[in-house]
Amino acid sequence: MPTIGERVRTALRWPLTPLLVVMDRRIAWRLRQYDERIVRAERQVDSLKNYTQLLAGALPPPPDSGSSSIERPAEHDLRPAEVGTAVVQPSAAGDGQAGYLDRLSCPVCRAAVQVVPEIVTADGRIKRGHVPCAGCGEVIASVCDFRVDFRARGGAIPTHVEPARVVPVPGELRLRFDDPRLDQQGDWFIWDGRFVVSHGVVTDSLEYTGKFTDALVHMVHHVNGGIVDFFVDGRLTATADLYSDHWFVLPVTVASDVPCDEHVLRIQPRGTKNASAGAGDILIAELVLKGPQTDPAFEAPQPMNRGNPYIEVFERCIAQTPANELILEVGGGERRRLRPGYVNLEYMTVECADVYGDIQRLPFQDDTFGLVLTQAVFEHVNNPFAAASELTRVTKPGGLIVTDVAFMQPLHAAPYHYFNMTPWGVEELFKSCAIVESDYYDGLASTIEWILKSVGAQATVSEKEFASVIERIRAMEAKLSHADIRPAASGVWLVARKPASSPPLLERSESVGPHRPA
Ligand SMILES: [Zn+2]
Repeated sequence: MPTIGERVRTALRWPLTPLLVVMDRRIAWRLRQYDERIVRAERQVDSLKNYTQLLAGALPPPPDSGSSSIERPAEHDLRPAEVGTAVVQPSAAGDGQAGYLDRLSCPVCRAAVQVVPEIVTADGRIKRGHVPCAGCGEVIASVCDFRVDFRARGGAIPTHVEPARVVPVPGELRLRFDDPRLDQQGDWFIWDGRFVVSHGVVTDSLEYTGKFTDALVHMVHHVNGGIVDFFVDGRLTATADLYSDHWFVLPVTVASDVPCDEHVLRIQPRGTKNASAGAGDILIAELVLKGPQTDPAFEAPQPMNRGNPYIEVFERCIAQTPANELILEVGGGERRRLRPGYVNLEYMTVECADVYGDIQRLPFQDDTFGLVLTQAVFEHVNNPFAAASELTRVTKPGGLIVTDVAFMQPLHAAPYHYFNMTPWGVEELFKSCAIVESDYYDGLASTIEWILKSVGAQATVSEKEFASVIERIRAMEAKLSHADIRPAASGVWLVARKPASSPPLLERSESVGPHRPA
């Protein structure tokens, strides 16, 4: 005869079984999450180590845009364009390139440096060249497709330089992922309304046939990215490994200064992938082809912004800066502003960079820019004080520095996310300057949503439930004032003015002397 206790246990065992199975599964799922987190953390430690070594100059540059990450041929052997040969002095007109090329300095020894032009456009912009530093005794930057690259030092200074070759002023033809002129072979499909995708099998290919002198392709680099080859007229001109821990859309240069004839550009998945990649997917965002602006196929470049919109203070300060002043934006990303004298310095390989370099060793002479901007950059800088002192150094006396920094935002672009800042923290960076203006952003609900998503919280409840939680926070935020939100603002920003240089000694003594002018 079973006891009451045994009977209760027997009665409960059956209904409890499904619950135990569910709990079991949850425990297994949790353990798997922990494992994955450990693997991810190990990978991040590795990339951090590499990055640190890179900064110390011990490693070659990072796989810039992936375009050189495998075995990109240094120079493809298509015959060079022959447009004419002449010695050209860069003109001060155009988009202001000449204005800042006169203000470059060596990031290593700080000596003033000049670009030696190899290819120049008919309007005087330097398209290709190199930058020797007499102080260092080596080439310290190269110019490729108008971008001055200080990330990799380039060896011995050439003893003989041919006169610069002149090419027509280039225009561009931008082809979106779904352009009918891109001939798809095999299985491609459109994803997210932004990309054309192949699962990376060798039988897939995408071809464009037409005239161009230069070509680049915006490719998605991500955890499931495969390996892709690029051919121009049947010759391999570039290879990219699209694997990356993080999602980046980056340009891959496929052709540079080829004759402006009809070419066949072919994008061909190799059917293989990096060992770390989850799959071999190939995602294409856009093709950018260049050719002479005199050819109706190519248009004059237009302004564009593929990043976040600027906050109001950026636009206001840019508008108030006199047209003859140079403006530096550090970390401007894929933003193209056609204002003369506007310089976008980037560390990442982006199409819209003017100069590639490091915020902690800016390649510009002291007192160069009337306005210096950084948006959402400082939390990604591992020595913000060194970076702030560099920004101040290159700002003209009396010039402005506008910066915004993450405050309550969660981890992003890891492992390159170091220091979030409070409103006083960001002021500490610019102590040598006068703080003209400072404030912070609202966005309480959007920041909380970001925080919850960053820990995967939205996956623990239904989509509807998650949306309703955010909706309730949004309703609460609507009842709070801007001042209320300061302790938990999304980001903080400030405008700092570099002190004008002290007046010369003579003037000072005159001002207190007996002959002081009225
Ligand atoms: Zn130097």
